[in-house]
Amino acid sequence: MSFEASANALDFLKQYETLDGIDVKTLMDSVSRGGLTYNDFLMLPGKIDFPSSEVSLETKLTKKITLKAPLVSSPMDTVTESEMAIHMALLGGIGIIHHNCSADEQAAMVRKVKKYENGFISDPVVVSPTQTVGDIKKLKQKLGFTGFPVTENGKMRGKLVGIVTSRDIQFHDDDTTPVSDIMTKDLVTASGNVNLTTANEVLRKSKKGKLPIIDEEGNITALLSRTDLQKNHNYPIASKSFDSKQLLCGAAIGTRPDDRLRLEKLVEAGLDVVILDSSQGNSIFQIEMIKWAKSTFPKLEVIAGNVVTREQAASLIAAGADGLRIGMGSGSICITQEVMAVGRPQGTAVYNVTEFAKKFGVPCIADGGIQNIGHITKAIALGASTVMMGGLLAGTTESPGSYFYKNGQRLKSYRGMGSIEAMEKQDTNDNAATSRYFSETDEVLVAQGVSGSVVDRGSITKFIPYLISGLQHGLQDMGVTSLAAMQEGVDNGKVRFEFRSPSAQLEGGVHSLHSYEKRLHN
Ligand code: GDP
Ligand code: GDP
Ligand code: GDP
Ligand code: 5GP
Repeated sequence: MSFEASANALDFLKQYETLDGIDVKTLMDSVSRGGLTYNDFLMLPGKIDFPSSEVSLETKLTKKITLKAPLVSSPMDTVTESEMAIHMALLGGIGIIHHNCSADEQAAMVRKVKKYENGFISDPVVVSPTQTVGDIKKLKQKLGFTGFPVTENGKMRGKLVGIVTSRDIQFHDDDTTPVSDIMTKDLVTASGNVNLTTANEVLRKSKKGKLPIIDEEGNITALLSRTDLQKNHNYPIASKSFDSKQLLCGAAIGTRPDDRLRLEKLVEAGLDVVILDSSQGNSIFQIEMIKWAKSTFPKLEVIAGNVVTREQAASLIAAGADGLRIGMGSGSICITQEVMAVGRPQGTAVYNVTEFAKKFGVPCIADGGIQNIGHITKAIALGASTVMMGGLLAGTTESPGSYFYKNGQRLKSYRGMGSIEAMEKQDTNDNAATSRYFSETDEVLVAQGVSGSVVDRGSITKFIPYLISGLQHGLQDMGVTSLAAMQEGVDNGKVRFEFRSPSAQLEGGVHSLHSYEKRLHN
């Protein structure tokens, strides 16, 4: 074709009856092709006419909870405790605290996440004027903060007479001095009916660290902390409750009778969402637990699972689940498919379950097998609303456990919750700890996971922003401005797919080099 004729390329294109590539239905036609997973396909590029920073990653975790990033950390004892959950929420995702510990330990972890950031602190720790500097130092050690309002009777809602902060005790060596001698009495306060935005303004202008809120009689009703303004500023997409501004927190439980008591403790600690943790969620135990949890705690969101088929999903949706978790045997530490002969390739599982669940407005988590950013984009293109990661987040500063060295490499442990090591730990706990694999109380433990290690990945405060930025670039390449637009494009056939042969997969990886170093981000 001549150069002049090339101007007609766009008109010429209109002659084609279909777009290049295939639609998602054709891709996932399992009768002809068998189960697929993320590496088996790619999406085709679209047109870029917007910056990647404009791509929205907002998505639903459950019917009622929306997140700014589709990222969830797995309830595993080498992945999510309070540090991970705090930082996942600060960075726009959410952490689900594991249950391979006592109910009280798990509730304490949830409480720590919920207390980390606040709007109005509605139940601040207060002290009395007769307590001593030594008492304040002890409280600081136990609680991690030192800003204590002082009330006449030492109780919340008592008459406010002063405040002690870290500066008041910093260089004070005599631990017997009473609080009344060192507290600040001349206080900036705000009145009880002030709204948060105005109270923040008063706090900013006062240049103080704390702002007590008082009623007409001068009794303290709440406290505001400058640190929280800073946290809000530093983490603009944090996942928070709309009214309390506390970070959102999830936790996992089993479905045994004792788990009801556990859930009561978690809800009491402020839990927003619970995941019923089972490798095969379609059980009478789980159906009963969903119904009980929804009727006992109407505000709590309940995610059920795991499922990989429409039939499993239908049972749990009918029981009232607010979200589903998809995956059986796809996790990096998992040997379920090998041992049980049951499971499903993750791409096919995600497509089939989400295709069904979306008819009922139930968002789904694609759980397990996420090895890189591309897998996240693909899971969502196939219909998931969020992804859950274990291995990818293990080995970070915020994951539990300490680093160790092996052959010169800095490592952290990462183990399946169905590994012998994780199941054996349960013997030392109360009996409702992890009971995900239905074998924990048997004489012969049948493992469904392995125990291993992963390399140091640094802090998730760098890793999660890298995932977010990578996702935005991927969507930009596809020519879609949001996760919702990508899913709409998949549904109406505009986002196109291509199957990848085994040699195409080799071609898509790094190849033909003598050696290389794979650095993922700066
Ligand atoms: P402080 O100045 O030593 O009190 O500590 P920070 O400036 O680090 O702030 C305390 C952090 O703990 C803030 O994010 C608060 O929202 C949080 N927090 C949670 N509960 C309380 C409480 O009862 N009192 C205080 N002072 N802070 C609390
Ligand atoms: P934002 O301003 O983008 O954070 O929008 P929001 O709707 O989340 O916040 C509404 C008001 O609450 C604003 O005045 C915020 O400064 C304030 N705010 C948000 N998060 C916090 C927080 O963690 N602590 C405090 N004290 N105020 C907050
Ligand atoms: P085992 O016979 O001692 O191995 O115990 P099971 O695991 O079969 O059940 C123990 C008890 O826990 C029974 O009373 C069940 O009703 C109850 N249960 C509640 N939820 C679950 C669950 O998710 N799995 C199993 N296996 N039992 C559950
Ligand atoms: P990863 O992100 O490492 O690929 O997978 C994490 C997921 O694997 C978890 O969220 C959980 O669903 C699943 N998982 C955790 N431990 C085990 C285990 O021991 N066996 C199996 N089958 N799956 C596990």
